[in-house]
Amino acid sequence: MATEQPFDALIIGSGVGGLSVGIILARLYPRVAVIERNTLPGGLMRSYTRDGVDCPVGVHYFGAFGEGQPLRRMFDFMGVEVAAERMGGGGPIDRYLFDDFAFDLPEGIDALADALEAAFPDDRRPIAAIIGNLRAVADLQNSLSFLSSAMPPLFDMDLFSPLAVYLAKLNCSPRLRSVLCVASRWMGLSEQDCPVIYHHLALTSYLLSAWRLRGGGTDLAEAFSSRFTGLGGSLLCNDAAAAILIDGREVAGVRLASGRVLRGTRVVAAVHPKTVLAMLPEGAVKPRQARRIRGLVETEGLFAANVSVDARTHPALPHNIYRLQTDREGWISAGLFYQLRAGGEGRNLLMMITRSPFSEWRRWEDTTTGRRGVEYEKEKIRRAEGMLGKAEEIFGSLADGKIIDAYTPLTLRDWVNSPEGSPYGIMRSVGQLPAAAALHRLPLDGLFFAGQNALAPGIVGTVLGSFQTVRQIMGHESFDRRVFAGLFAGKGKSSK
Ligand SMILES: Cc1cc2nc3c(=O)[nH]c(=O)nc-3n(C[C@H](O)[C@H](O)[C@H](O)COP(=O)(O)OP(=O)(O)OC[C@H]3O[C@@H](n4cnc5c(N)ncnc54)[C@H](O)[C@@H]3O)c2cc1C
Repeated sequence: MATEQPFDALIIGSGVGGLSVGIILARLYPRVAVIERNTLPGGLMRSYTRDGVDCPVGVHYFGAFGEGQPLRRMFDFMGVEVAAERMGGGGPIDRYLFDDFAFDLPEGIDALADALEAAFPDDRRPIAAIIGNLRAVADLQNSLSFLSSAMPPLFDMDLFSPLAVYLAKLNCSPRLRSVLCVASRWMGLSEQDCPVIYHHLALTSYLLSAWRLRGGGTDLAEAFSSRFTGLGGSLLCNDAAAAILIDGREVAGVRLASGRVLRGTRVVAAVHPKTVLAMLPEGAVKPRQARRIRGLVETEGLFAANVSVDARTHPALPHNIYRLQTDREGWISAGLFYQLRAGGEGRNLLMMITRSPFSEWRRWEDTTTGRRGVEYEKEKIRRAEGMLGKAEEIFGSLADGKIIDAYTPLTLRDWVNSPEGSPYGIMRSVGQLPAAAALHRLPLDGLFFAGQNALAPGIVGTVLGSFQTVRQIMGHESFDRRVFAGLFAGKGKSSK
């Protein structure tokens, strides 16, 4: 078995991060493999079906997918085609409901400026400052200059301070604060932890345009995996990467759980860094580095419940709803996310998500999905019913609603091997930015990181991170010529 021909690149993990690296590399090199421990590829992209309704897991909505916008450019370059519908429908993309006021987040930075000025007339100065920043970040995003050698350095140190500090410095009113803080939650970060640059990137990507999948996450996962195999890539499912093989200070291949050995001097780990550490031989990483990785704080867990509702009484909404609680200063203390989307056959799907730290589920830590027992199932139902009760305050009677599924941090942990079921991987807080950046400086030639832990979480952040990883692999000059230029050359489907 060890005599197999070496691969040009071995990628561990078939989420959106691993498969996008796989596709870009398969366009450039003949022998590329993606290794996946699950029977089906796709990681968090993949949805599942309950009661005939498609239930999303990690893709509820995503930004910047309009023609010529950054995510669409990257999909076009990869040749991944997916049916998506634009959210908003002329109205808001998100509705934020606070205890004593509501705010509709519109599409577009100009529209946001108008909406903020109308809602908070006494906050003109902070609004002008923030809108100016958002425009600058949107320009960076649109030009994809994060990926180019021509990227202007980010000198504004405010961009790396916590959002809460920045908003306090701008002297925003508590209500303006509350509205602006929501976007940091999209990456599992509180406003105290979230670096301003991440907040601005997330917010601008949705302001450029907000989308949700028309089919479902399974279609998305299939679009990625079939494009990869169509380019000649080898998709090896149902066999986990067990060890990364090292020769001196260089990567030499991957040993799978089955014992199969794949040779290759480039290994891309599109999985959680803590699991990568466990795959490396003792001593491959200095004890200080290992401690730093092990000590990385995870994003807080989520609890989600899916409810099938009557489509006539609860038609699909073109926007999401956030029900939020804040303290007197305007900082967010609790929240619930809702999306009501088409489900088919007279039923719609109401998705409800809220925070739920891993510690709340520690009792069942040593169990596996499907075998956690009656008490666990009861606890899920209890929580889902509680959420459904709260949802009635917004959607009216949901007596006809049927809870078709609920999942916890343990479910996510077991599905994608994410420690503590962290939904967005390691927390990209201001405090952890240096440790996160250090991941890319491990002293092993040929080992690269991709996936949501490499640059930023979310579909946009993860795919952007995949391109950056390929840039590290190829070298800047070659990347600029062979990949970056192609991002502005139109669809890549026909070419290899
Ligand atoms: C509930 C939830 C809702 C979300 N909603 C949104 C949203 O609306 N919009 C948005 O943009 N983002 C959203 N996200 C975030 C987004 O889904 C993720 O950032 C993104 O999908 C991460 O992709 P990834 O490739 O890094 O990881 P994953 O999708 O987790 O893929 C990692 C893959 O690696 C595999 N793997 C792990 N260990 C091994 C091993 N040893 N060997 C082989 N394979 C291995 C796993 O099985 C998995 O398939 C959400 C996330 C969650 C959890």
